[in-house]
Amino acid sequence: QWAAALGPREVVLAGPRSFCAGVERAIDIVERALDRYGAPVHVRRQIVHNAHVVRSLEERGAVFVQELEEVPEGAVVVLAAHGVSPAVRAQAEARRLTVVDATCPLVAKVHTEVRRYAGRGDTVFVIGHRDHEEVEGTVGEAPGDVLVVEDAAAARVIAPRDAGRVAYVMQTTLAVDEAEEVAGVLRERFPTLSAPRRDDICYATTNRQQAVRAVAAQTELVLVVGSANSSNSRRLVEVAERCGTTAYLVDDVGDIDLRWLAGVSRIGVTAGASAPPHLVDEVVAALSGLGTTTVRESSVVDEDVRFTLPREVS
Ligand code: SF4
Repeated sequence: QWAAALGPREVVLAGPRSFCAGVERAIDIVERALDRYGAPVHVRRQIVHNAHVVRSLEERGAVFVQELEEVPEGAVVVLAAHGVSPAVRAQAEARRLTVVDATCPLVAKVHTEVRRYAGRGDTVFVIGHRDHEEVEGTVGEAPGDVLVVEDAAAARVIAPRDAGRVAYVMQTTLAVDEAEEVAGVLRERFPTLSAPRRDDICYATTNRQQAVRAVAAQTELVLVVGSANSSNSRRLVEVAERCGTTAYLVDDVGDIDLRWLAGVSRIGVTAGASAPPHLVDEVVAALSGLGTTTVRESSVVDEDVRFTLPREVS
């Protein structure tokens, strides 16, 4: 009866959406490690923040662990795309683990910046979410020299040990406008503040936010495919909402509540950088199954970023 109640509908796909180069590389690394070393291959933390990706790699023989103590001595371990602190690498060495590092090169770049700033005596502000695994790893590069700044209110009161020697970096998956607001407050308070030469918020996060903004402007409802612990997916929901469009995060088609669609004729669909493209296809197929539907893509930019693989699996 929904099909009859809803009438003709248009689905607008955001472009770019779904996997980024860092996530593709991380999944490829686990698959190649399984081929090369045989199952089980241990992976510290979720390789990328997506429940479907984790499940499908588990089916192939990957074993996900929280900490390296759970990995048998001498075994192969893959480090997830979000990066780790040097303490974790030292622990891997102590346990004689064969490490295959799936840290996204764009996260590794932020780690390098922290080392450089802290090494010359700066206090480094890390703009980001304290509890996110990426921030944990970034902070771990120089724990005594780093202060996490979660929002503009925190930026207004943060007190470094020397206001003349300060720098900042960012988590790669923040909302671009919110992060810029925080950086603006810091720049105003600390005129000599050093900033990374290139933005830390990565190309994939930036592009997906720009794309969802364009789609939100053309639709009444936006569905974002992604898992609840995926920072960049959650930011896509918020960006769409800030455009005044209702938006929901769905892990897959099964999460869609048909009541959301009542009276809605234009639906935007996107996916976070960790969400597989086939989940988007399934959402589009389900929406199309409800009645007359046209599907079109609204693309803001083409992506052609590729990263090389670590030598252990290349
Ligand atoms: Fe790398 Fe950006 Fe993808 Fe994270 S979202 S894995 S930083 S490309």
